[in-house]
Amino acid sequence: MHELIHMYDNCTASIDFNRLKHLACTEVRAANLAHCTTKGDTRNRARASLYAVINDSLTQKEIPDALAEVFDRCYQDLEPFGRRPCTRETSQRAYEEFIYLRNLKKKCENVRVGAEPY
Ligand SMILES: [Zn+2]
Repeated sequence: MHELIHMYDNCTASIDFNRLKHLACTEVRAANLAHCTTKGDTRNRARASLYAVINDSLTQKEIPDALAEVFDRCYQDLEPFGRRPCTRETSQRAYEEFIYLRNLKKKCENVRVGAEPY
């Protein structure tokens, strides 16, 4: 699921993987949503991922500041689930909401397409 979060971020946001803060944010989100651990462990996992993918030692020195700057905001961003899907119950609720919203979207599209003009 970790990589799916990166894919979701890439599809829904204008992520520039060459910008450290963007990379830090998606790593925080992936660690938070995919690994279901504590807030502290989420920070540690995100930091470890950043050190693993960034080989430039100068940029590596900027990781702690970048992570500190984006962490709280990105940790609170729970899309596309709206919650941390860490238990069977929260995963089920996220799935049920997905089905509900998908059906609602279809209804809205049908209304728009089939609606008669005034
Ligand atoms: Zn990652």
